[in-house]
Amino acid sequence: MKRVLPLALVPAILAAVLYLHGDRPAPAAQGPLPIPEMQFNDVKEIAPGVFFRLSSISAADPKIPFGGSNHTWVVFKDYVVVIDANFPKEAADVVAAIKKTTDKPIRYVLDTHHHGDHAYGNSVWAKEGAKIVAHKNAARLLAVNGPKQWEEASKATGKDARDDLKTTTLKQVDIPFDDRYVLDDGTQRVEFLHFGHCHTIGDAVAYLPKHKILCTGDACVNGAYNFMGHSNSASWIRCLNEMHKLDVDVICPGHGKLARKDLLKTEVRYFTELRAGVQAGIDAKKSLEDITAGLHFPWYKEWTGVDVAGPQMNKDSVKHVYNELQGKVEHERLGWVPSPLETRPVAVTRGD
Ligand SMILES: [Zn+2]
Repeated sequence: MKRVLPLALVPAILAAVLYLHGDRPAPAAQGPLPIPEMQFNDVKEIAPGVFFRLSSISAADPKIPFGGSNHTWVVFKDYVVVIDANFPKEAADVVAAIKKTTDKPIRYVLDTHHHGDHAYGNSVWAKEGAKIVAHKNAARLLAVNGPKQWEEASKATGKDARDDLKTTTLKQVDIPFDDRYVLDDGTQRVEFLHFGHCHTIGDAVAYLPKHKILCTGDACVNGAYNFMGHSNSASWIRCLNEMHKLDVDVICPGHGKLARKDLLKTEVRYFTELRAGVQAGIDAKKSLEDITAGLHFPWYKEWTGVDVAGPQMNKDSVKHVYNELQGKVEHERLGWVPSPLETRPVAVTRGD
């Protein structure tokens, strides 16, 4: 018997064939994307043409080697877009990992902010022919403070030593943007968005509306990786709530494992409870030491594996919030400018 293909299946099969040939739009996400189990340095295609590489940073477990930030890359029709630049050595590792997934050239790299594990590898990407994109505040911090901070970092010794900073140079941002910068070739779409002062004054996230993926850099991390030294915690909470309004299924955090959208609310809970706990201590005229010793969030330990005031970085976060709540953090010195959220709603458009 001659089998006849049901007509209803034809468009789906045609779309699949065209997609496999690589020059038609990637199918839009249908239903929640699966979240793969990943080990450090694994690469997984989490949506058509979207790859995630889980890196490692030793904040939670000193036995795990340093790998810098996580990376997401998106394969467009003619080029590749990469989220985050990492340090130079780690950037070269990621370039090699990308080349195992595609032979298309790397054209754009987003520095999600100016910190070394997200921006110091810029020269490695430039050598590949990529343009470096960043929010204008991140670009300014890299231009104004970058050279001195790079020099200091290159002189570090012991476990902080970075020989790669002695053999490369600080590459500045090519394309600074204000609130948004969009790449769309009809097959893929990536929107770089600035929501305001979060982890730094120059945070940008990458939103992939077709796949409902949000790559957050350190504006949202999964685990005990929140460095707050350059943050504005009140603004950070507002920005995370704004990000939550996006149609998102999967979060690719700057550090830690892939997560569902509720990671944004977990971060909001952390900053909100931290601020409330510290404020209660200030109201009770407690010292910073007593406030720090008295902070215990069992849910936080369940999430991160460490205490909310355990590792030094977490203690530093308590101190930062303690100073912030008393108006002692000079956000101006950090280059603070009013967040767009404080003056007007964030304009986020989806699709063309
Ligand atoms: Zn950072």
